[in-house]
Amino acid sequence: MRISDDRYSRDRLKLDLALRLLRHEARTCTIQHITGLSGDRIRKLYRAYVMQEAPVRLLRHRGKAPRQSSWFLRNAEVRRQAAVLGGLFALCGLLDPATDATAPTLDAGELFCRAYETYLYEHAEACISFDHGWCLLLALRGQRGLHFAQCPRCEALGLIDRQKPATATCGWCASPRGLGTH
Ligand SMILES: [Zn+2]
Repeated sequence: MRISDDRYSRDRLKLDLALRLLRHEARTCTIQHITGLSGDRIRKLYRAYVMQEAPVRLLRHRGKAPRQSSWFLRNAEVRRQAAVLGGLFALCGLLDPATDATAPTLDAGELFCRAYETYLYEHAEACISFDHGWCLLLALRGQRGLHFAQCPRCEALGLIDRQKPATATCGWCASPRGLGTH
């Protein structure tokens, strides 16, 4: 009986988390990865609850989830917002070596939502989608090549490509405006 109760509450937590992710317009594959629910169950959940209740029609993004860590270095603004979101991941403990982002727990999913929702709250013009946010977490967890490092020129902490040499400057210092200030 107890096992059955535990399973019920665990299932309930998964469904609640999946609903939260659907409201963030997360892709089905991202929701599957975080909650462990099947794609069919997620689509039914969307049709039964989210489609009916949302005040505006939420998007359902198709196709594969983003995987390119270079996307976060495409321009200074995206890079800045990614550094803020990455900092929130660190504050929530999501970058601790003991946390395994390849096999996320429900707790990690919940912490990720908290970090991402704080990021949205702080950015009226947020440019990082939920799926890209999850991709950023995987990139910072060492699987897709980004990490925090100090710029050797201005000493600001920012996102750096792991493939680049440690002497690489931040995006600001590398830009013509940044070069002019030193
Ligand atoms: Zn710099």
